[in-house]
Amino acid sequence: MKKGTINAARRKWRRVHEDGTVAEVSPMAGADTWEACARQRGQSVADSIYRPFTFLSDAQAAADRLALTICPHSCGERCGTWDPVERRTKSRIR
Ligand SMILES: [Zn+2]
Repeated sequence: MKKGTINAARRKWRRVHEDGTVAEVSPMAGADTWEACARQRGQSVADSIYRPFTFLSDAQAAADRLALTICPHSCGERCGTWDPVERRTKSRIR
């Protein structure tokens, strides 16, 4: 298994839904799994699922469901897409 291939994808992912509800997926420290959370923009985490998800897509789906719990709506044009969040701190991804 190539080192670095996995690390490159191990970053936080974020999707902003309408009304500013944010769904986030973060890599869990020390494990090749993901956790899902959702919150209102500008606020701390409102709801989280710390169940480790093996697949990013599963974690994203769970985070979307959380976002819909916080702000019920039908996802449409006003909802963004899942985008990787660049790390603000300088860190070598190697
Ligand atoms: Zn939405």
